[in-house]
Amino acid sequence: MPAGDASYEVLVLGAGMSGLAVGTLLRRAGERRFAIVEKSAGPGGTWWDNRYPGAHVDVPSPLYCFSWAPNPHWTRRFAAAPEIQAHVERQYDEQGLRPHLQLGHAITEARFDAEAGRWRFTTDDGRRLDARFFVCSAGPLSQPRWPAIEGLARFAGTRLHSARWDAAVPLDGRRIGVIGTGSTAAQLIPPLARRAGHLTVFQRTAHWVLPRIDRPYGALDRALARFPPYAAAVRAFWYHVLEWGRRGFDEGTLARRSMTAAGHRLLHAQVRDPVLREQLRPRYPLGCKRIIYASDYYPVFAQPNVALVTDDIVRVVPEGLLTADGRLHALDVLVCATGFDTAAPLQSLRVQGLDGRMLADDWRAGAEAYRGVTVSGYPNLFLMLGPNTGTGHTSTLLYIEAQARYALQAMAALRAGGHRWADLRPEVQREHNAALQARLQGSVWTHCRSWYRHDNGRITALFPGFTREYVKGLARWRAEDYRLA
Ligand code: NAP
Repeated sequence: MPAGDASYEVLVLGAGMSGLAVGTLLRRAGERRFAIVEKSAGPGGTWWDNRYPGAHVDVPSPLYCFSWAPNPHWTRRFAAAPEIQAHVERQYDEQGLRPHLQLGHAITEARFDAEAGRWRFTTDDGRRLDARFFVCSAGPLSQPRWPAIEGLARFAGTRLHSARWDAAVPLDGRRIGVIGTGSTAAQLIPPLARRAGHLTVFQRTAHWVLPRIDRPYGALDRALARFPPYAAAVRAFWYHVLEWGRRGFDEGTLARRSMTAAGHRLLHAQVRDPVLREQLRPRYPLGCKRIIYASDYYPVFAQPNVALVTDDIVRVVPEGLLTADGRLHALDVLVCATGFDTAAPLQSLRVQGLDGRMLADDWRAGAEAYRGVTVSGYPNLFLMLGPNTGTGHTSTLLYIEAQARYALQAMAALRAGGHRWADLRPEVQREHNAALQARLQGSVWTHCRSWYRHDNGRITALFPGFTREYVKGLARWRAEDYRLA
């Protein structure tokens, strides 16, 4: 990597899926003057971070690749993390992105210089970089959240967070505790149960679990997947199935009734013990938190070496966890599958826009942007998976692809028009968010606590509609939405 200062046309922060999409489209557009700066030692983003046992994608793999890069190598319908990581790495090679990568470096500050029409960056090793366009793809789920439980730091055993897994920690035959029962926990609990001497699962909320209809992809599937019309048909099939699933978030729909019934049936079929079944029964409306798709989760609780604890955790002590019923749960390893900090995105990065305004201040009451991509007061900045772009029903890659195309359109339009920068009109952002928040009022996501919501209750992470609606909204960059300079 070159030492010293450097200038680019585009600087992309983050070498995950979003960095891959933007980099690919930039190269296809003939752009070579860009860098992808990544704090981790390799590309992959969330798949680089999430290496816990059992990690896999929870949407069908044919939909978990970009439209321009179908992957005929998937070995399962729901691919495991190492397979996805391999696909991502292959893409970084095949799309010619390796020379653009600057790995192991974090951007700590980004400041827009209106005079020059350029973003000025500082890295954690003190370098100064600059670029005309800034694509910020830091990842909405990249800051692991440790539970706020008294005494956590005093635990004498090994403490792990699911998103910072240490594969060297011995697990076989040990007393393992897992805090959390969300999407991540449901994936790591079954493999941990196979290895632990004793596994204690600490559940604060029972989540909705629906069957995961997984299957291996054999040689015939993989051969057919090389045939573009077949690959396109499989992808289209899953796209429409998952779009139908979006209806499951709306009261009174057939989709909602079917999905709710499927959840009840799975619990009934897989948990025989009536007491346990009641403990595992979700008490909030389906969809309010991310739905878990797992056929191997409930059966774990019938294993003799597994215990479900629903009493509140009072504190962590050196030997283990103390619960409200006065019991001490002695542990060797404590796994926190407690999710991510989403209330204050981009915490580790100071972003300064026009007239010295700071993004952290503007977002204090909850992050907002225009269709999750541009923010008024921060010209030539493009967020990837920004505010209100999360999806509870389909592949997030569909959203990334739309955002990347929009960003590239904007860049091309500014060049063609001879403009230095474009700043989103504040009223466009205001009206867009007012409509979005009005739509979210009374939605299923307002009925429980989740990472979709800011502490003040505002839903800042989730897009409420169908994918086709989101994609259509970003299909055309409109100059009239922006102030041009
Ligand atoms: P999460 O959904 O935020 O779940 C965190 C879990 O930890 C919840 O069960 C929560 O309980 C519990 N918890 C947090 N603090 C606690 C405390 N102090 N005491 C007791 N329990 C506590 O996090 P996640 O499971 O990591 O999933 C986050 C998101 O990542 C998902 O929604 C999904 O979008 C994504 N994900 C995707 C995949 C994939 O396959 N693509 C896999 C895993 C995750 P409460 O529910 O009571 O708050």
